[in-house]
Amino acid sequence: MRRVGVLALQGDVREHVAVLAGIGIAADQVRTLAQLNDVDALILPGGESTTIAHLLVTSGLRVRLGERIREGLPVLGTCAGLILLSEEVLDGRADQWSYGALPVAVRRNGYGRQIASFESPLEVAGVGSLTGVFIRAPRVERWSADVEVLATLDHDGTGAHPVLVRVGPVWGASFHPELSGDGRVHRHFVDSI
Ligand code: GLN
Repeated sequence: MRRVGVLALQGDVREHVAVLAGIGIAADQVRTLAQLNDVDALILPGGESTTIAHLLVTSGLRVRLGERIREGLPVLGTCAGLILLSEEVLDGRADQWSYGALPVAVRRNGYGRQIASFESPLEVAGVGSLTGVFIRAPRVERWSADVEVLATLDHDGTGAHPVLVRVGPVWGASFHPELSGDGRVHRHFVDSI
């Protein structure tokens, strides 16, 4: 049985843990190096990317998580988690760092601020139709040719942007699959481990 962790420094950790429980997975909440070293896959939740980044430093997890990602740890970043995995962060804080594990550029709050949060039907490759929940969501504005795009959204008629991407074991979602009422995206990720 492979161990799936949820990075539990800040953000909607409980929602991910609940969705994983719903598909029969007892997730580990990861706050320490020992816990990080124990998991076979890790979910980086939504929340506030600058806060999570700060807590990764103060918890001592930043460097080891970077190593594990480079060594091929399967990771799924949702919303703030996607920002943390991206190569380039637009409209980030001046001192904002990210792991650069996904060759994409994301714009923080690229769909608008909290008040512009929305839900939208999505068609996800390998999963089917679901409702995407976007909360101060990052928008993928550039992506390299080797990025597998599993779902796109043309929110404002200016063109389709990827909202679920994958490069090998590294997955990122602009939306919150932990809030859409089912565990199919998590199942798809876990099945790929
Ligand atoms: N805009 C937030 C950030 O920059 C992400 C929002 C979210 O995770 N719901 O971290």
